[in-house]
Amino acid sequence: MCALKIEPLLSENIEELAGQSLSVCYQCGTCTAACPLGVHVRKLVRQMQLGAKEDAVGDNTLWSCATCKLCELRCPRGVNITDLLHALRILGFQGRKAPAKLEQALWGVYEEGNPWNGKKLERGKWAEGLGLKVVGNTSDRSSKVLLYAGCAVSYDPRLQNVARSLAEILKDNVDVAILGERESCCGDVVYQIGEDAYFEELVQNNIKTFKDSGADTLITVSPHCFNMFKTVYPNYGSMPNVVHYTEFLSNLLDKDALKPNGGNSSGEKTVTTYHDPCYLGRYYGIYEEPRKILESIPNITLAEMSDTKENALCCGGGGGQMWTDHDGARPSHERVVQASETKASVMATSCPYCIQNFEDATKTKGLELKVMDVSEILNQSLKKK
Ligand code: SF4
Ligand code: SF4
Repeated sequence: MCALKIEPLLSENIEELAGQSLSVCYQCGTCTAACPLGVHVRKLVRQMQLGAKEDAVGDNTLWSCATCKLCELRCPRGVNITDLLHALRILGFQGRKAPAKLEQALWGVYEEGNPWNGKKLERGKWAEGLGLKVVGNTSDRSSKVLLYAGCAVSYDPRLQNVARSLAEILKDNVDVAILGERESCCGDVVYQIGEDAYFEELVQNNIKTFKDSGADTLITVSPHCFNMFKTVYPNYGSMPNVVHYTEFLSNLLDKDALKPNGGNSSGEKTVTTYHDPCYLGRYYGIYEEPRKILESIPNITLAEMSDTKENALCCGGGGGQMWTDHDGARPSHERVVQASETKASVMATSCPYCIQNFEDATKTKGLELKVMDVSEILNQSLKKK
């Protein structure tokens, strides 16, 4: 039997980093049972309580957490589990325990401003031909509204259509600009890996870029960038008003600025189901805005999945999971089955990671289900006469 190596200061360090007392947890194990990614949550919390640092940072499931907050929703003691696991990751990163693929993604951000192997100079290519204003171009005067595309939609050919759809809607209705080559990663992957020193440098650079742009509103495509800008960045400096695009479009609908079409001669409706991304739903309670956008489109009938809103299953992509290897069943596989059980032909969502994971999952499961972003669906309807 090997002896447990105890570091008496571990629990103190964790509590300071996480701003959360470890003694609140009474070890019921509900979190472990709830976790769709198989993270040893209860055990990890116990190891933090005991000071068993080597065992805790050496547990591979620490790096499998998708930060979906389903365990927090179920925890009877209201423990901020994701904050505790994040604090543990900071110590794990310092001890070189982070998975190699996550470290590679980190290097991508460091060298080219994105974790997807894209070139910095090609960041704004997705917007070619759209006639969008680009901050810093001498011919463009400044705009008060800035669209932050994010890394995934800037470089992934499939996801570029999401950014283009949203940009088309916005430019017809507001004076909007993008950052083009000046845009850099929001730092979510750097934060998730626990590299807090470089994270701070990156955040300060981005805050300066936003300030120099003169914008007072920052619209994000990805809920993960939204979370960074809305909650984490204000710890480092002042930010413009940060909104997710579903909030912004919902507001335009309230003002009657958008007139979705989509009726057809047969009057046939497309059954569409909506998946709540964790970083919009459980994190910010943004449930109604995307549904309002979809319901504003005349030929759409919305069908809810069995697990919906705060109970929605995670796609499995948060917390750095887009860059790690996974064996076996994924929560995205179960989620697309839930979507197809609604008889929907379209699975809508509003997060680039969800789109990537669900498109992969529908192929794996052989399902006839089209995965689309809410902005793509709305843009199609606005183009219909
Ligand atoms: S559900 Fe909450 S109280 Fe129960 S073991 Fe998990 S963190 Fe502790
Ligand atoms: S946040 Fe989600 S993935 Fe992470 S431990 Fe909790 S339930 Fe599991």
